Amino acid sequence: MTLTNTLRGLAVAALFAVPAPVQAQMNPLSNLAAVGAPRDPKVKITFDRYYDHAAVGEIGRMLQAAHPDRCKLSSIGKSTEGREMWMITVSNFKVGDADKKPAMYIDGNIHSNEIQGTETALYTAWYLCEMAPQVAWIDTLLNQRTFYIVPTINPDARDNFLKQPNTASSPRSGSAPRDNDMDGLIDEDSSDDLNGDGHITQMRRRSRLGNLVTSPVDPRLMIPALPGQRGEWEMLGQEGFDNDGDGRVDEDGIAGSYDPNRNWPWRWMPQYVQGGSDMYPTSLVETQNVINFVKNRPNIAGAQSYHNSGGMLLRGPGMQQDEYRPQDVRVFDALGAVGERILPGYRYMVVWKDLYTVWGGELDWFYGARGILTFSNELWTSFKYFETAAQNTDRNDRIDYEFDRLLLFGEAFVPWTKVIHPQFGEVEVGGMKKQYGRAVPGFLLPAESHRNMAFTVFQASEMPLVQIDSIAVKSLGNGLSEVTAITSNPKLAPTHTQQDVENNISRPNWISLEGGEVAAGFIMSGGGGGFFGGGTPVGEEQKVRPARINVANIPGQGSVTVRWVVRGNGPFTITVDSPKGGMARATTAR
Ligand SMILES: [Zn+2]
Repeated sequence: MTLTNTLRGLAVAALFAVPAPVQAQMNPLSNLAAVGAPRDPKVKITFDRYYDHAAVGEIGRMLQAAHPDRCKLSSIGKSTEGREMWMITVSNFKVGDADKKPAMYIDGNIHSNEIQGTETALYTAWYLCEMAPQVAWIDTLLNQRTFYIVPTINPDARDNFLKQPNTASSPRSGSAPRDNDMDGLIDEDSSDDLNGDGHITQMRRRSRLGNLVTSPVDPRLMIPALPGQRGEWEMLGQEGFDNDGDGRVDEDGIAGSYDPNRNWPWRWMPQYVQGGSDMYPTSLVETQNVINFVKNRPNIAGAQSYHNSGGMLLRGPGMQQDEYRPQDVRVFDALGAVGERILPGYRYMVVWKDLYTVWGGELDWFYGARGILTFSNELWTSFKYFETAAQNTDRNDRIDYEFDRLLLFGEAFVPWTKVIHPQFGEVEVGGMKKQYGRAVPGFLLPAESHRNMAFTVFQASEMPLVQIDSIAVKSLGNGLSEVTAITSNPKLAPTHTQQDVENNISRPNWISLEGGEVAAGFIMSGGGGGFFGGGTPVGEEQKVRPARINVANIPGQGSVTVRWVVRGNGPFTITVDSPKGGMARATTAR
């Protein structure tokens, strides 16, 4: 897609972003709204294209203008090349303090070629804002939760992917200049778009020494020659030539040689152990910006970082040495099982065990250093081509070619054309376009974005949420009262992951009493048959500052009982203040 295309899409969207009554007059097309989409969206944008960095900011501005009570655009800092790293905060700003509500952090596109994470993140902001007045469940969600959405954390190289000639896999890096081949020159030999079509495709040459023949099913496709069969073609790699005359082709490209998802300060390893880790953890300004933001938001309980591709719901750890605490694994497993239901063709997996070892990855920093329950979805899978795991077994065909023929009518493929190559002479250039294979085709992008959004919103809804279930007051005589409060957390996630508790990452929950002079405070645990089961409750006294009791964790779908001995007869006000579980307050009757 070209820049012009992007801007045209936005210009049309802006034209239609008019107040609803006027629009109703202008729209003669009477309709029945489908479920699962805003009936009358204030921001009319389509999710069948990939937006560049400027468009991401513009969409954020449009959402903020249309939904000032629910949507706010800001920046978490500037990228290497000075682009703003846009963040869209979504919450009901009229209810509570957004920066104190249990929050979900969402980003995408850390790998610059993995573009649709950005659209999924944008879709999430758009859908939640547009649907809150229409769907009670979302309205309640935004009263209770905050979403910090950073659609791209690699904005420089995103624009490179969109606007420069690339393959589906380039660039993966960011734009900080690096001398990949250590010849003293920076970015002197990147790929070359020989036919000038904006895509880096393949080069082939007719050759009796080649080992490939033309497929009888799809003449665009080359297949291995059978034993005894003479080859017709030899492959010469992807489009490019030796720009600097060092005998190597495309060895030092524009977009660096590092991997932004190996640059995080959790089990970071140097380049010779973990390729792409760059010079030291957080050497990249984009990494620093995310870390600085997240460490200042202790209310972030859950996180999602969207990648492509493969159809995976990934959790850490990235390396065998770091197996997650069992209490936390149970929560991940429960969320992952629902995710596999929401996302047909996706599998819930553990990075090191089911994929490969990653040192210094983003999700490991989120969980390891911050105790945040974090998933990384790998968007798009070949399952989606024909909605089956069955592959095309015809040796003369391939599933991506078949899908392109039957559903895209050949649009995803650049036809083979002759060009003169400076070193090879006459060759043919052709192959799959950069936005095919890993990115989602246009007609499927809204559905893919929706399902991934639904999983992440489900995770957000199951982040901790503290409540006060009951307060019992018993007179002890002599002006003393015994006050017993049961606080609970009905959600899957605990207020503190076990990783958080064991490593003292977040402050404890504070359960405090006002309305009397506190003589003693206790955390109770049920004796024998449980607290109300006839056993004798056992109290663990907090001798220092008993009016505010420190509770290390309120478990998921669990409760904690606290008790005070207080001089006074009430009314008493109990407050539960949880860094990741929100705040609850209740006052006893006079
Ligand atoms: Zn990735």
